[in-house]
Amino acid sequence: MVTAAPGEDRSPALALVNTRRVEADDLVSPGAAADWLRERGLAAEVPDAASLSRLTELRAAVRELLAALAEDRTPAATALETVNAEARADTAALTLTWADGPAREWHSSRPGGLDAAVGAVARDAIEVVSGELGAMVRACEAHGCIRYYVREHARRRWCSTTCGDRVRAARHQRLVVEQRGGGG
Ligand SMILES: [Zn+2]
Repeated sequence: MVTAAPGEDRSPALALVNTRRVEADDLVSPGAAADWLRERGLAAEVPDAASLSRLTELRAAVRELLAALAEDRTPAATALETVNAEARADTAALTLTWADGPAREWHSSRPGGLDAAVGAVARDAIEVVSGELGAMVRACEAHGCIRYYVREHARRRWCSTTCGDRVRAARHQRLVVEQRGGGG
């Protein structure tokens, strides 16, 4: 079980991007993708091959948007096109809810299906990238990690304590080797 990176709880789009890691892919098969969609409360359906490739294409497009943000550049036009097209995958209405206070939610006209899931993630990507959360998105600096996270603390440079520990261990290892090299 992988710990979620900071911000994944607030953004399904960020969570989607982080389903692809160096060592694993949570969307490797329709069954695995169905588990992920269900865990996120996005869809109950098991995607067919075509839906799965829509999901992985959307993931690549959102990754490009996050990379563009983090690198302060304009993203590839195809990434924008994919996200904008998928944001219209289902019809959804901006809805005001009032539980602990006012909150905005998109309500799909066909909830539970793949179109609703893809549409929800794409709309979240648009909101995140264009909003204040987007300004805090960073790529994990640990070697061999390709996850993104929301930097809530100025000093944070890694997506997880696992990555932070790995970097510190590697630094320590280098130091030991250097000292040995210097002494011998
Ligand atoms: Zn990391």
